[in-house]
Amino acid sequence: ASPKHFSILKSLNNAQARAVSSDAATVAILAGPGSGKTHTLTSRVVWLVDCMGFRPEDVIVATFTVRAAHEMKERIGKALKGGRENKIVLGTFHSIARRYLSAYGRHIGLSQKFGIADDADSRAVIARICKRLQLAIDPPAARAWISKKKAKGTEAGLAASTRKQPAKPTAGQQELETCYKEYQDHLDRSNLLDYDDLLVRCVELLRKFPSCVSNIQTVLIDEYQDTNGVQYELMRLLAQKQGRITIVGDPDQSIYGWRSAEIRNLWRLLRDFPGTDEISLEENYRSSQSILDLSLLVIQQDKKRYQKLLKPVHNKGTRPVLRKLKSASAEAEWIVSEIRRALLMSGAMLNNGDVAILLRSAAISRHVESALGKAGVGYKMVGGFKFYDRTEIKTILDYLRVIHQPENNDALARIMNVPKRGIGDGTIKALVEEAEKSSLSLWSLLTKHCRGDRAAKTRITKQAEQKISGELLRLLNGVRKRVTEASESTPFGLVEMIEHLLTALNFRKVLQDTQPDDHEQRWANVQEFISLAADFVRDLQQSGDDALPEIEGLQQTVEDDVLPRFLANVALAADAQKGEDGQESKPLVTISTIHAAKGLEWPIVFVPAVYNGSIPHMRSEDGDEERRLLYVAMTRAQCLLYLSYPVYSSMGNGERNELSPFVAPLDSCFAKKGPCFDRPVVGQIAQILQRKLAPDETVFKNLPPMFSMEDNIFPIDPDEAQKHDAGKPSGGGDGDQQTDEYPRLKRPR
Ligand code: ATP
Ligand code: MG
Repeated sequence: ASPKHFSILKSLNNAQARAVSSDAATVAILAGPGSGKTHTLTSRVVWLVDCMGFRPEDVIVATFTVRAAHEMKERIGKALKGGRENKIVLGTFHSIARRYLSAYGRHIGLSQKFGIADDADSRAVIARICKRLQLAIDPPAARAWISKKKAKGTEAGLAASTRKQPAKPTAGQQELETCYKEYQDHLDRSNLLDYDDLLVRCVELLRKFPSCVSNIQTVLIDEYQDTNGVQYELMRLLAQKQGRITIVGDPDQSIYGWRSAEIRNLWRLLRDFPGTDEISLEENYRSSQSILDLSLLVIQQDKKRYQKLLKPVHNKGTRPVLRKLKSASAEAEWIVSEIRRALLMSGAMLNNGDVAILLRSAAISRHVESALGKAGVGYKMVGGFKFYDRTEIKTILDYLRVIHQPENNDALARIMNVPKRGIGDGTIKALVEEAEKSSLSLWSLLTKHCRGDRAAKTRITKQAEQKISGELLRLLNGVRKRVTEASESTPFGLVEMIEHLLTALNFRKVLQDTQPDDHEQRWANVQEFISLAADFVRDLQQSGDDALPEIEGLQQTVEDDVLPRFLANVALAADAQKGEDGQESKPLVTISTIHAAKGLEWPIVFVPAVYNGSIPHMRSEDGDEERRLLYVAMTRAQCLLYLSYPVYSSMGNGERNELSPFVAPLDSCFAKKGPCFDRPVVGQIAQILQRKLAPDETVFKNLPPMFSMEDNIFPIDPDEAQKHDAGKPSGGGDGDQQTDEYPRLKRPR
């Protein structure tokens, strides 16, 4: 083997190396968490490019979240020299589809300037339609139905034929059809594609114009267990020329059933691609043995699952903790106190970014946030907690969206009276309706109004009219004009545009007037948004344009505007946050939903609210999926894992929570108090994380500011601290008679 081969293979075990260098056209790696699936997949990409001579632009890599895509790109970039990772078509299925649609969409009649309706947009539109037409259907259910319906036409035979069809259209179904039609009309009028459309239209494109992907040599997919029928079809079409596919996945971690992800796609792949090289990986490199053992006990409660072997490579480590607390706020305080204890005791070997708090639903983050805030512990929120959903950010985004697409009625309606222009909600509603009736965009209608067109029916006050034409339309038209006139010498880029908007709207003053309580925080968010935009522009400059390689005989639209790409990025990257990469800006704690934590790992993981009704969630219909969700959460932990739940529900109605049925049978396997950080334990942690243990005297160096020496919650001497903590049950348990000692662990071998 050449040195290149060697440098790729040296970090892999035998099975991984076999997967990386397999000659088979289709390779499927099914293996448990932490077994190096993602590591193997990235290594295979490097192998194919560096050793097999594939051009990076002929390789497609699909991941499941935007964060995973970032991470993977970074890892590949480290191995491939010369920035070649930027040429790989790498991203989520949605972002890959968007790239193809913006390059070739016009061949299937898409307007070049389509925008993307994100989840929230779709939900809002459907809710509005249901209300307006007084449809007796539940908007979220209608949304799910529409989504399935859109997918139907594209799926390969199997899934469609095995799915039960309702025999006759029922009354409810008629209403659903109406809602669907209205919804689609609305999207078409506003020139928007929703998430489903992105995939479905891309399938349509690749079916009609297979030459779009005639250059593609191979497609690689991470987290395959969560692909749905349309994504499967998309994968098949992307790989249609060469049929080379590598997938990695774990059926035990399938947690997107509610988005129609189907485990069945695994068996479908094996059927559609005979001769697939199936490889299993059996060593877990992530977690301590006790964490892995307990996680496996949880997932093994599911008797129907596809059995796989998974054994730890690390030492036993400390037993995971299960803690019962009085209330959600006591639970949050306990978490914070355990974080501090772990940090104090771990010999300063832990770094920022090492702690995660993983939540079943974003809704319960309040207590945790407030406890961390009170203690001055830095944290960031990802997944489900959408930065871009904050009002002040949404307003700026809406301005940008209208600049990009004046026909976006929703966005225009939202900003018409922000800042206040004396236009009431009733007037806005009437204008929207008038626009819809006359098949005009709201933009054209307003323009007509302001020209004093008599045909415009809705009456708006003279003053409002002046505000609209004098302020709003003028501002937006002015910006659009500047965009077209921008040149090398007078640039008007994305950041300039945002700053121009903020000045013209006097946005800081607007926040002060309308949000007197927290305008400073909101303005800080706006600043954050500007720097996100600046980062985006810089990344784009570094990675070059994302045009796809030239295909002979098929014209490509090259998108050279930054604005639409930024907006698409925002729409598809609701989970992206600043501070992902920059070490300095990384806070100690990450708060994330379990769904968004998929594929990631942390030295210390807390999973609060493990009670019946939270996990499994009361609204979930699939108990097995809820169990898998808990399994995903637990298997994120490398060294320390803490589960907890409040006994009394936070509703204040005195109702008691029961421990989750997934955990209850294993109650005795958990420790009931936080681990005792004696030298051996700290040594084991260091071993798993492969970090150096600081000598004793440096224990208090490098601690975050919250651990200033004046902080005397804990005595300074670590031994004292242990005694102190052992004597004082933190957080206050509800008659929590725990007399057991800290679990003492055997010394490491
Ligand atoms: P998940 O199912 O949670 O996505 P995964 O199977 O994708 O997990 P990875 O994230 O690729 O697992 O790897 C888990 C950890 O193990 C990573 O820190 C990775 O660097 C490490 N790892 C993987 N393979 C090896 C190996 N052969 N030697 C040492 N460490 C490894
Ligand atoms: Mg992975």
